[in-house]
Amino acid sequence: MKLEELFESVTFVPTFLNTETNHQETPYKVVDGPCELCDGTGEDYNDESLPCKQCGGKKTFKARKYAVPDLNVANGSAITILQMLGLAVEEDMHGTIDNKDLPDIKRQLLKLKNSSSSRAAHTYDGYEEQNKRTQIDKSGPVPRIVTTGPKIVHGGMSDERIMRYVDELLKLVDFAQKNNFNLSWY
Ligand SMILES: [Zn+2]
Repeated sequence: MKLEELFESVTFVPTFLNTETNHQETPYKVVDGPCELCDGTGEDYNDESLPCKQCGGKKTFKARKYAVPDLNVANGSAITILQMLGLAVEEDMHGTIDNKDLPDIKRQLLKLKNSSSSRAAHTYDGYEEQNKRTQIDKSGPVPRIVTTGPKIVHGGMSDERIMRYVDELLKLVDFAQKNNFNLSWY
């Protein structure tokens, strides 16, 4: 697993406004999937001779699944996407584009798709960073300062990657327009 995957991520997804709670909600459906408690083995995690407490040994359990397409990206990529679309980057990384404003977003996405110079303004190279934890190594004849800790990989934003995001976002926008949804990210 790359360390980058441990960082917070943002999901772009079609939503609708629940007028009772005034919150954007994501349509979901309940499906049978592998039981998460026993990892699909059907066995109790403490005692293999007993059935799993959640699925009762059936190995599957009802789970909530989005009934809509979504795009999950690392925080840094989400910031680039919002900037490409000319949208404000709020500190909490939450936001919604109302259904009536989706044509503007679609126009912007098509402009990016068809213009490499529009995309070039948002590309950057990836880089690696050593975690800055220093220790004194006294194992040799002379003590020396060493840097330890994991290497953190920051993915770059290549033109190819931007194209992939643009195509995925176009699918989300089309879906939202056809089904009268908004587009949210959080
Ligand atoms: Zn189970």
